[in-house]
Amino acid sequence: MSDAPGRPAEPEDRGPLFDATLSTLQPSQAFLDACGDAAIAFEGDDLARLGRYLAFLRDANAKINLTTIVDPDEMWLRHIYDSLTLLPFVASYEREDGTDGPVTLLDVGTGGGLPGLPLAIVLPDVRVTLLEATGKKVRFLSAVTAALGLANVRVVQARAEDAGRDRVEHRERYDLVTSRAVGPLATLAELTVPFARVGGLVLAIKGERADAEIVEAKAALHALHAHVREPLRTPTGTIVPILKQRSTPKMYPRRAGEPKRSPIGGRLRDD
Ligand code: SAM
Repeated sequence: MSDAPGRPAEPEDRGPLFDATLSTLQPSQAFLDACGDAAIAFEGDDLARLGRYLAFLRDANAKINLTTIVDPDEMWLRHIYDSLTLLPFVASYEREDGTDGPVTLLDVGTGGGLPGLPLAIVLPDVRVTLLEATGKKVRFLSAVTAALGLANVRVVQARAEDAGRDRVEHRERYDLVTSRAVGPLATLAELTVPFARVGGLVLAIKGERADAEIVEAKAALHALHAHVREPLRTPTGTIVPILKQRSTPKMYPRRAGEPKRSPIGGRLRDD
């Protein structure tokens, strides 16, 4: 249905977003060296599947806007390596209440699947949910998941503000919540913390402003009953781990758009 009365809707291109027969992009030496330095090891066909994912991402990027990084060597470092810097946190996570069951991870604002998809590829025992608001990106994620046969991945199209209020499916249902490049920490906290179980961790991949963002997010984290642990600098960014200490107050997350428009604790600088 067209949302502009009197004007026909643009026909949506429903053709394949990428060529599923594409072969793998070969990992760069810089990527392999960085993984060696970080003691990241690969099993079986992990590298081949990561390389096929990058090939699909690159191919689909010609049709939909998924990434500005398209040089293969850069993609291995800035997309795959950067995502895998979260591995030590994910692999060592243990529930404080001692309950059994597979570790669950939600990637908020996953876009083309980062950092969630590389983690799902190398950690098949972790149940990964990719949350993304944009329909075209969700279509890409579903197609990639099917093409790579990732049985541990589900794709959800929703805004975090809406899914975060869904007590049956999403609210306080995840051990780990990841996010990269979705917004400043004061906004991102409201979009991510509601999904974590009490005792669960939010893992935000941040850039050079990580320390300033932590200061700006102080009021938001306090209101959300969450606490920043020691950030970890990596060769590609800064990981900010946030521990959820108690249940999120009912009023959060606020309605769609509000966390960005009016972050808890006041406006942020505009740049
Ligand atoms: N995380 C990916 C990465 O690092 O490449 C994508 C980053 S992209 C800059 C931000 C993504 O977050 C977009 O795909 C956007 O649609 C999604 N997003 C932004 N706000 C969102 C929200 N409130 N709920 C769900 N997705 C959201």
